[in-house]
Amino acid sequence: MENKQHFFTVGPAELYPEIEVYIAEFLEKQLGSISHRSTQFKQIYEFTDFQLRKLLKIPAQHAIMFTGSASEIWEKIIQNLVIHESFHLVNGSFSEKFYKYALALQKSSKALEKGLGQGFVYNEIEVPEYAELICATQNETSTGIQMREADIHKLKRSNSKSLMAVDMVSSAPIPDLDFDVIDTAFFSVQKNFGLPAGLGVWIANEACLEKSKKIKADGHSLGAHHDLPTLWKNAKEYQNPATPNVMGIFLLGKVAENMNHIGIDVIRKSTEDKAKKLYRYFENKTGYSVAAENDSLRSKTAIVINTPINSSEIIKTIAKANMIIGAGYGPNKDSQIRISNFVANSDTQIDALIKEFEKL
Ligand SMILES: *Cc1c(COP(=O)(O)O)cnc(C)c1O
Repeated sequence: MENKQHFFTVGPAELYPEIEVYIAEFLEKQLGSISHRSTQFKQIYEFTDFQLRKLLKIPAQHAIMFTGSASEIWEKIIQNLVIHESFHLVNGSFSEKFYKYALALQKSSKALEKGLGQGFVYNEIEVPEYAELICATQNETSTGIQMREADIHKLKRSNSKSLMAVDMVSSAPIPDLDFDVIDTAFFSVQKNFGLPAGLGVWIANEACLEKSKKIKADGHSLGAHHDLPTLWKNAKEYQNPATPNVMGIFLLGKVAENMNHIGIDVIRKSTEDKAKKLYRYFENKTGYSVAAENDSLRSKTAIVINTPINSSEIIKTIAKANMIIGAGYGPNKDSQIRISNFVANSDTQIDALIKEFEKL
């Protein structure tokens, strides 16, 4: 394609480099028309399930379930895992929305809130006594703050009676989360997996299943649309209760297979190197600064930078070179830019982007 644009946006994002080949295979095999109850579909689900388990080291007992989006999983997690109270670490728009879903579902949930640009470390967090579920956002996409895996694991270990949910929507598969420690995690595919939007992935352990069954047995509602026990039962047969996003599931399996082929360690290292390069560049560029105050809490995949002039001017100038970067989120729309550092944003592309910034 002539004048092809490169997207450094945090989702929807640059598509995975091999995407055209995978979509062509999907069409060639006429997979858009097969029954979602067919053996052929089950084999697609099983393949994607296998590749994701390998990539993220997900234990065999856990279920991998598919929804329409990640925000849908926020609601399902609250409905299926909480009777009275969840506890949320809130430091930006996405973690706040997760919290608000709990309040909208009339839970008496609590939050530990931090200002934009700040993050959470284990020893500052006190989990309320009655929290049934702790909700952490591993990568707060609005502000470019990560929560370190070790802090997440320690938080669960020292509060083992609460379930632990991790939003890894804009960072998966980069965080090295221990699925023997945390109870549930989720992501959607239009971020770091480089796919078109419309598929959410929900990983849960048996403790989650037990909790949802108990809530139901006690006479509470789990919601009408695909509760956890129903999704779980179907997933174990490589099925979905309704007609799922077959194309999304197929493409995700292909991308995960490719990532496994490259090797997750190689991908994680390359992501870190590219992030360091971007951060170093903007730390040294006059007028610009990194939004994250604590450098150990800087996101590896969503780079948020304070700008010396209105960000829309910068975005417009960079776009002339066919490179699309994002504005700040919410109140920081005009004073920040956000740059994705996803797997599909190659080292060469990052270099080319920095070269454009050199001209400013
Ligand atoms: C994008 C995003 C979501 C929402 O994902 P959808 O697939 O759009 O529902 C949730 N959490 C974080 C951290 C995100 O970046």
